[in-house]
Amino acid sequence: MEPTGDGPQPVPSLTSELREQMVQQQLARRDIRCTDVLQAMLTVPRHEFASGHSIDEAYTDKPLSIGCGQTISQPYIVALMTQLARPEPRARALDIGTGSGYQAALLSQLVRDVQSVEIVAVLAEQARRRLCKLGYDNITVHTGDGTQGWSPTAPYDIIIAAASPDHVPPALLQQLAPKGRLILPIGAVRQSLMLYEKQLDGTVRESTIAPVAFVPMVGAE
Ligand code: SAH
Repeated sequence: MEPTGDGPQPVPSLTSELREQMVQQQLARRDIRCTDVLQAMLTVPRHEFASGHSIDEAYTDKPLSIGCGQTISQPYIVALMTQLARPEPRARALDIGTGSGYQAALLSQLVRDVQSVEIVAVLAEQARRRLCKLGYDNITVHTGDGTQGWSPTAPYDIIIAAASPDHVPPALLQQLAPKGRLILPIGAVRQSLMLYEKQLDGTVRESTIAPVAFVPMVGAE
């Protein structure tokens, strides 16, 4: 039977409490200020993307290794990259290194649609199934080499990559719309999280954000 509305309110689920704690302790206390990003982090069920880990572990302040050379970044880093992307409802986003699909799911709550590219076919297929099962219907997962971006649906207002090349793949800058934002780690041994913002005249402004540790980006570039 459906609740009538006057009765006791439903008890918050364990996982929503864990997300609330994650947002308060790991994000809001640091420098994640964008309320839309905080709200999206509250809703996306991170534990569903963290196969091989307990529900508690899924919400801790650390990256999760989940096989096939794949790591879901620490919640703070995912939130920081998403905040730097300045998402907006009309934006179109490209996510490189689908992995589990967590970053794509988060972005999908904040933009019009997400194209996501994963080089390992089995990971792409798993992510496709998972995102479909969870009802994320504005994400398309492609199997391919993200150093080439994804040209059929370019340009993008936002490009986020979760694997580190040793230099910026030129295709990613080309596929960025005017005023677009590209966020990715750059470097091999030492990596820096970088923000590239394309200006209206086509030039690119570059900012170094923070030292980070991502898996290497493989591929043609
Ligand atoms: N965003 C992911 C993180 C995945 S880890 C998540 O939220 O779970 C980085 C991923 O980048 C790995 O799955 C790896 O296979 C993928 N990758 C590495 N090089 C790539 C390339 N050139 N193109 C696309 N994906 C790549």
